[in-house]
Amino acid sequence: MLLLERLIRLYAPHCCLGCGAENDVLMCESCRAVTPLVPSRCYRCRSVTREFAVCELCRKHTALRQVLVATHYEGVAKELLHKVKYERGRSGIVEMVELMAPLLHLLPQDAVFVPVPTATSRVRQRGYDQAVLLARAISREWGLDVADVLVRLGQAHQVGSNRRDRLLHLKDAFRTQRTARIRGAHVVLVDDVLTTGATIETAARVLKKAGAKRVDALIFSQAG
Ligand SMILES: [Zn+2]
Ligand SMILES: [Zn+2]
Repeated sequence: MLLLERLIRLYAPHCCLGCGAENDVLMCESCRAVTPLVPSRCYRCRSVTREFAVCELCRKHTALRQVLVATHYEGVAKELLHKVKYERGRSGIVEMVELMAPLLHLLPQDAVFVPVPTATSRVRQRGYDQAVLLARAISREWGLDVADVLVRLGQAHQVGSNRRDRLLHLKDAFRTQRTARIRGAHVVLVDDVLTTGATIETAARVLKKAGAKRVDALIFSQAG
């Protein structure tokens, strides 16, 4: 492939991942309209609940109260996310937000969005964090605040910390910064994909400890 062609591929609009139509977007409106959405359910056990509430039984195991999920991690939605994450297709954030938009009316107007940060090595490779971009794009659309309160910790941060910090310094854990913005607040974690739920559950615990009144989550897709 010619260098110029590669540059154009990198920066110029792509074809629709679903139908191949050339129309400046990674997922066209028609393909978005037929993307299967996740029904309202408990994210842990998948029993049917109202407005994506965590069911009574699962509440014993998680600090999260409501986990809104837009679509399934499969098909064109999965391809779209892969483009955004691994192929520098950051324009695809717009289509991701479109798919999440029907869920936004379930959130209170005073909620604060907190992106779930991606591991820093991956962000360095790519130059951006898709969860942060997603949270910012949704907040622009919906007029809610974003607070970059969570910091992702790797294994290399274990020196010179006290006991409490060491507990938080487990692999894939988080610490918090500038927590004044979430003290007493209704926080909504924003992430791109939900697998076991361990990441958002850890993040929710950390945010509760930092003073958040309630923690929910808004996720683009759920695997499995
Ligand atoms: Zn299409
Ligand atoms: Zn449940």
